[in-house]
Amino acid sequence: MTSLPATPPPKRLGLVIDLDTCVGCHACVVACKEWNTGGYPAPLSDQNPYGAEPSGAWLNRVHSFEAGDGADGRTVHFPKSCLHCEDAACVTVCPTGASYKREEDGIVLVDEDRCIGCGLCAWACPYGARELDASEGVMKKCTLCIDRIYNENIPEAERQPACVSTCPASARHYGDLADPSSAVSQLVAERGGFDLMAEMGYRPTNKYLPPRPGRRGAGNGTASAQLEQASPDGGFLGWLDQILSD
Ligand code: SF4
Ligand code: SF4
Ligand code: SF4
Repeated sequence: MTSLPATPPPKRLGLVIDLDTCVGCHACVVACKEWNTGGYPAPLSDQNPYGAEPSGAWLNRVHSFEAGDGADGRTVHFPKSCLHCEDAACVTVCPTGASYKREEDGIVLVDEDRCIGCGLCAWACPYGARELDASEGVMKKCTLCIDRIYNENIPEAERQPACVSTCPASARHYGDLADPSSAVSQLVAERGGFDLMAEMGYRPTNKYLPPRPGRRGAGNGTASAQLEQASPDGGFLGWLDQILSD
């Protein structure tokens, strides 16, 4: 089994995703696939891409859900990738040391040369954030575009994850969530950013910003009521947990 860093990393690099402004366009999904197929965890294979049942390795996916009915209905687009958890059981279950969390910035990675494709880490991840590449036989996952964010060969403004650079709605933000003065930390504080499925105890680094109440029928119908509150006891979080658990 594999150990997590003995002391908390000084940085917690991660994403803040705004569920209020995400329009479900999938640009982040495509940008992620394109960058990472040519970069660090390459290639991200596809099987039967033009057939009836295509499949493949995608490190970032967007799920869309309907909440409520009729005039009170609302669509919520939910982007999902690795959340670079503090207590990442995907690391501790790994029998070979292939899965690891970086001591310097908290990014969770897979060393593909050491991965035997056993799939234990995928079972341990409650978020479904790991992707077994069927052609390569190894596990892959979001790297936070580690080959972009530290890459001194590209302009400084581009040293952020491909999904963040691409998002046309500015729904994705990248930064250090260990620094309370960072833009991402302030955004989380201002907007009530929350941990996904906090009750699992994995302490994800990535945060989500809840949808704001809709203008139509706010407060008097099912969707508005579900989306209005971001409380661990119910409201939007409870709804999201239920959706992801089904
Ligand atoms: Fe591991 Fe899943 Fe957390 Fe990523 S989201 S660190 S794969 S448990
Ligand atoms: Fe470790 Fe690879 Fe097995 Fe995951 S699939 S637990 S990274 S050896
Ligand atoms: Fe949502 Fe932005 Fe991704 Fe489009 S690119 S699906 S708006 S997060």
